[in-house]
This record gives sequence, structure tokens and C-alpha cells, in this order.
Amino acid sequence: MEPVSAEEIRGSFVNSSRSQIKAMTLPPKFTELPWESLDYLGWRDPKAPNRAYLVVRRDVGLTGIALQTAATGKPRRGTGLCDLCHTAHQVTDVALFAARRAGPAGRKGDTVGTYICADLACSLYLRGLRELEVPQGDTVAPEIRVERLGTRLATFVDRVLA
Ligand SMILES: [Zn+2]
Repeated sequence: MEPVSAEEIRGSFVNSSRSQIKAMTLPPKFTELPWESLDYLGWRDPKAPNRAYLVVRRDVGLTGIALQTAATGKPRRGTGLCDLCHTAHQVTDVALFAARRAGPAGRKGDTVGTYICADLACSLYLRGLRELEVPQGDTVAPEIRVERLGTRLATFVDRVLA
């Protein structure tokens, strides 16, 4: 994706209050990110690890979505799949994120839940830029997986905006 500025990021959120955006911490080393290898910008809030953010460039502009994880405290075992990039991980490396829906639905408390790579590094896993700990069942070519990630991402954003 094309690099984005801190200002653009802060102005992109569709499901957050002004105070939430003010409290948001930008990704560490924000200006040094490997933008050319990113399908979306995703990060956990360094100061509030149960909060995460996903920013994606669409035809209409930049769309930012704030996410929240629910820590269950229960030990989990086995493997899990990211709903966005379909990368398989140890189950603790995939997190269930809830996105408050935009507009009136969100104000009523409606959320969209989805499993995403816990570090929101889908793009890096698909390009072999971050190491994987479990064997992958998916043998589809990386370019196709990147394309599919884009489609699933768009569907997710549409569900939040709907
Ligand atoms: Zn993923």
C-alpha cells in the first residue's frame, strides 16, 4: 500500500469516538514500515494491548477500523486460522477481534467478530517475511493469497460499515 501519514490514519476511523482516536498509539517505527509489502496497516496498541487497529486504502479513501480483543484467560491449544489471510497459527497467535459497527448500529453495541493473526501481520506472513510456526495446509500461490486477502478484507470492512 502507499504510505500514509499519522494525520491520515487518525482521520480514517469509522467506528471510534474522538477520545478513542486521541488515545490511540501509532505503530512503533511507523515511518519505517515496509509499506510496499503491506495490504493493510494493522497493529496492536502498544499502550493498550487489547486494542488493535486496521487501516486499509480503498477507492473511496482510507478506512480505519478499531478492534478489541477479549482475553478469555483460558489456556487454548492446537492451531487456528486467520479469517483474513487463512494463515494457520498456534491458536494463541490468532485472536478473536470485535469491531464496533459504524454508525447507529455500533452505538447500540453491535459488533463484527473475526479471527485475525494476533499481530495483524497477514501481509508479512503471505509474503514469507515473518516466520510461521506451524505447517500450512494452504498451497495456493502467494499472489493469489494476497488477492484473496484483499477480497476478504473488503468484505470485512463492508460488514463494519453496513
Ligand atoms: Zn492473517
